[in-house]
Amino acid sequence: MLELDQVAVSYGKAPVLADLSVRFAPGRLTALVGPNGSGKSTLLKAVMGFLPVQSGTITLDGRPIRTLARRALARRVAYLPQENRCPDYMTLGELVELAGYARYSLMGGPSDRDRALFRDALETVGLADMAHRPVNALSGGQKQRAWIAMVLAQDAEIVLMDEPVNHLDVKYQYAVMDLVRSLTRDHGRTVIAVLHDMNLTSAYADDVVMLRGGRVVAAGPVAQTVDADSVSRTFDLEADIFVRDGRLVCLPRLAGTGTRLPEVRARTA
Ligand code: ADP
Ligand code: MG
Repeated sequence: MLELDQVAVSYGKAPVLADLSVRFAPGRLTALVGPNGSGKSTLLKAVMGFLPVQSGTITLDGRPIRTLARRALARRVAYLPQENRCPDYMTLGELVELAGYARYSLMGGPSDRDRALFRDALETVGLADMAHRPVNALSGGQKQRAWIAMVLAQDAEIVLMDEPVNHLDVKYQYAVMDLVRSLTRDHGRTVIAVLHDMNLTSAYADDVVMLRGGRVVAAGPVAQTVDADSVSRTFDLEADIFVRDGRLVCLPRLAGTGTRLPEVRARTA
């Protein structure tokens, strides 16, 4: 169980996370949502120990993460940053191998088990026949799947993903979210993913943590947490939330009817 207890983080003087307490349930997919600048990336970076925590504690199974060595943390928590870059010469196979480095013994390099894991990871994301291709020559959707393969190959129990579906077309957003969800359903991982779309959140996440100004506005299972009130308090946005085909749909209200096409109105009349 990953838990933040009254955590405060600031860049210089400006507080970015203030008195933030939240727990992430094992084996579940939690969507971390909130407006730009609400502290989503900061929260993930604080968990990874990339930023100093001013007060409060972050614990993994009750143990403060600052007492874990970096390698030990990397074995247990995988992190996919918001913007990923890799050098032009790097192939997909090399990228995935890199993932296992926290586990390698000093001289040994990847074991047979590691190699099996790499193959599985590439197969899971549907890129098994592309290991020799340079990562930067892959399409946007393939690239995103490549990074997910790297996270899978890391074989960590907790996976943090900062905007995993950014820059993807709608179809690939769903394909990648299917994969992300399978990390929890089929691989037993705990996943925390920063998402911008409340509809993707409702379709895929088990739990949601809604942030605003570095504070938790609402947190809990999606079905009990996402409603017009929490969306309004988080995003300052009036929206209708309704159930369609067994999932929640979030439809922001338009300010005036003038922006609606009469032809479309006639269709629903
Ligand atoms: P989000 O990921 O929710 O968009 P961030 O966690 O990136 O938000 O940022 C939260 C706040 O911290 C923002 O106000 C942002 O301007 C500020 N911030 C982020 N990174 C830095 C930095 N390196 N130095 C100073 N301020 C930063
Ligand atoms: Mg961010």
